[in-house]
Amino acid sequence: MRIAVAGGGISGLVAAFRLRGLIGAQARITVLEASPRTGGVLYTGELAGGPVDLGAEAFVGRRPEVPALLDELGLAEQLVTPSGLRPLVWAGGRSQPLPERTLMGIPSGPESLAGLVDADTLEWVRTEPERPLEWAAGADIDVFSLVAARFGEQVAERSVDPLLGGVYAGSSRSIGVRAALPALAAALDRGAASLTAAVTSVLPPPSTAPVFGGLRDGYRVLLDALAARAEADIRTGAAVRSLARTERGWVLDPIGEVDAVVLATPAPVTARLLAAVAPEASAAARAVELSSSVVVALALPGDTALPENSGVLIATGEGLRAKAFTLSSRKWPHLAARGGALVRASFGRFGDPGPLSWTDHELVTAAVEDLRTVTGVAIAPDGFAVQRWPGGLAQYAPGHTERIAELESGVARLPGLAVAGAYLHGVGVPACVAAGTAAAERAAAVLV
Ligand SMILES: Cc1cc2nc3c(=O)[nH]c(=O)nc-3n(C[C@H](O)[C@H](O)[C@H](O)COP(=O)(O)OP(=O)(O)OC[C@H]3O[C@@H](n4cnc5c(N)ncnc54)[C@H](O)[C@@H]3O)c2cc1C
Repeated sequence: MRIAVAGGGISGLVAAFRLRGLIGAQARITVLEASPRTGGVLYTGELAGGPVDLGAEAFVGRRPEVPALLDELGLAEQLVTPSGLRPLVWAGGRSQPLPERTLMGIPSGPESLAGLVDADTLEWVRTEPERPLEWAAGADIDVFSLVAARFGEQVAERSVDPLLGGVYAGSSRSIGVRAALPALAAALDRGAASLTAAVTSVLPPPSTAPVFGGLRDGYRVLLDALAARAEADIRTGAAVRSLARTERGWVLDPIGEVDAVVLATPAPVTARLLAAVAPEASAAARAVELSSSVVVALALPGDTALPENSGVLIATGEGLRAKAFTLSSRKWPHLAARGGALVRASFGRFGDPGPLSWTDHELVTAAVEDLRTVTGVAIAPDGFAVQRWPGGLAQYAPGHTERIAELESGVARLPGLAVAGAYLHGVGVPACVAAGTAAAERAAAVLV
């Protein structure tokens, strides 16, 4: 039995590992990765004498997939949790605490917004439950249109955008309610009387459990373990150029005939590979747009007086170049224990690929100047690492859920073919682990 996985990011490597578990030693699994290394947008570099994640640096700890996978791979001791310090948001030219008890920044009441938005907006939020809400069950609109209409633009730009900018490198204007906030859409579909009521009904109960987890030595440890345990022939620098059906299975350029295929490539590549075999699914994948970003990691002297916060997120329209800072050595005790201070600056939002073309010098200068602005502290880096992510994050625009349903139903009609990836059911690493697992099960179904 011969199986090909196109794309060696986390989705593809999880699929390869799961296929080995499902099919056993007799399977010949080949992972074809276009770039010179596996991992896709997960990349652990080196800075200040230790590993530093320059793509994803965390995962949502409430979801079980990553801790369960670490356990399964014998890597449970790699799991680290954050310090519990809260982030700040830079809005209206000053730093203040990021509102608590929100759903992706959408508030459950006016209390947490005090100081962040003006008095008129606070009053508008307070009285929102008194205004009738019109929502057609099944509707989908961008998050900005919903939040601005109910709570005012300042809430969208100062409370919601800083969070969506981090998760999707997008903004409330580029992200749809139904795909990004499915529980909220469901509460609205059920007839919630107001947005306040809908948010309140879906907020998880207050908890002191850590929201995020991370890996002590970076994501590279997980990627290496998946590759080793998949016992696959992993070929880097090997782009899949085409996919066609045969009587028995599939033929892939450049490796020839296989019995089953998992496409774990970014949406536009998947669209291209599906064009001849599933034109409607291909069109659905082609409609998913991507956003580009850049991460600049700074190593600072240990006595840099960074605020006692996990990061500083930046609201829309503040005139800064960075969109967020993670104060990594404040957020992660294992990084603080190394000595020195570490900060990650993030740049780039959907529709503004500008920072991708800036030089390293321009990026580091912008990071240093903006970090000084938002912290009020003198910043003098001892070292830095720059990582560009062209098209690194899928935008979950309005209509995304329907597009993905169409894509998946088109692929489901083709036995031995499955898709996985961050553009399907969530951009986070846990969702990619789930997608890779589900794709392996679908592909293996024709083989076992
Ligand atoms: C800057 C940044 C920060 C992030 N932070 C977090 C975070 O803190 N927490 C979190 O949970 N998530 C985070 N994410 C999201 C998460 O990292 C990604 O969504 C996830 O890693 C994507 O994995 P993937 O395997 O689906 O896609 P990718 O990693 O994009 O992998 C796809 C692979 O396919 C390869 N490929 C492309 N074309 C071909 C071809 N023709 N043939 C063969 N191979 C091909 C690519 O080279 C790539 O390696 C972040 C993303 C970015 C960009």
